[in-house]
Amino acid sequence: MAGLTTAVVLAEAGASVHVIAEQVPGVTSLAAGAMWGPYLVEPKDKVDQWGQRSLEIFRKLAEDTATGVRLTSGIEASRTAEAPPDWATTLPGFRPCEPTELPAGFSAGYQFTVPLIDMPTYLGYLLRRLDAAGGTVEQRRLASLADAGPATVIVNCTGLGAQELAPDHDLRPIRGQHVVVTNPGLTEFFSEDTGLSPDLLCFYPHGDTVVLGGTAIDGEGDLTPDDKAAADILARCAEVEPRLAEARFLEHRIGARPTRATVRVEAYRQGDGAVVVHNYGHGGAGVTLSWGCAEEVHGLLADK
Ligand SMILES: Cc1cc2nc3c(=O)[nH]c(=O)nc-3n(C[C@H](O)[C@H](O)[C@H](O)COP(=O)(O)OP(=O)(O)OC[C@H]3O[C@@H](n4cnc5c(N)ncnc54)[C@H](O)[C@@H]3O)c2cc1C
Repeated sequence: MAGLTTAVVLAEAGASVHVIAEQVPGVTSLAAGAMWGPYLVEPKDKVDQWGQRSLEIFRKLAEDTATGVRLTSGIEASRTAEAPPDWATTLPGFRPCEPTELPAGFSAGYQFTVPLIDMPTYLGYLLRRLDAAGGTVEQRRLASLADAGPATVIVNCTGLGAQELAPDHDLRPIRGQHVVVTNPGLTEFFSEDTGLSPDLLCFYPHGDTVVLGGTAIDGEGDLTPDDKAAADILARCAEVEPRLAEARFLEHRIGARPTRATVRVEAYRQGDGAVVVHNYGHGGAGVTLSWGCAEEVHGLLADK
């Protein structure tokens, strides 16, 4: 998705763009929930800037249902913390919840309206938009960035693949598992502020389906479905929203968040004159930052 978004920005600015990717679309991006929200990602000043720009664009995209983006109201709640997440306080409809609005066991919660992104639909939309802008896509695995072939510019948006391609040993996976079920009538999202716990609790309605989460297992990149984790996710979500206990299981969605101390968006010129721009390491917030980062890549290229 980082790659498709960057490709769209560059192609629509008039560049000749050819995307090479082993998976189209990327499995990690398909697995996202996805809610706009800068979750556990640095550096803060850039993340705020990238996130706000992406928010503006997602709000516009939400005007067209074919994009898979919907502005959705819901609650982020906590069993321990009292303060709202700082990124939420300026969102439309932001207000503290009354205690009666919170599920049992929660001490604080905040309601706000935010873009939710149905990733399979959204990634299809990005592919169509890239095609309309003249971009092309080739499905193959690269052994190195040089393997991309001759190009004046190479933009590396390979997520965890950058461990080998950059190469970047600071990049690590944080495994995440979601369960997709039929929608028993939910129109609002719910998300628990679980801090650094590996057990997350969130549900995101996307029309006919609901994505339930989740997990965050640091250092794990294995994508095999874990039935026990899935059952636990369903149980946690159904405790907050009993209608989910009746929902029909549709599929597992599992990905590994490409995580490093800070997101890497930077450009340099190689010995052969080609410019390489890195755009990876977005951790659990790649959707949230996607448009801001893609526009930064465009800006870096304009400066070269
Ligand atoms: C369970 C889960 C929930 C999440 N929820 C959210 C959320 O609510 N909000 C949010 O903002 N973010 C969320 N995220 C994070 C977000 O999904 C990621 O940050 C984002 O998808 C990363 O996108 P990417 O394009 O960098 O990586 P990917 O989607 O992994 O794409 C990388 C691409 O590079 C290709 N590639 C890699 N190596 C090679 C190679 N050697 N040769 C050729 N191609 C290669 C891959 O095939 C793929 O196409 C979530 C992630 C997970 C796992």
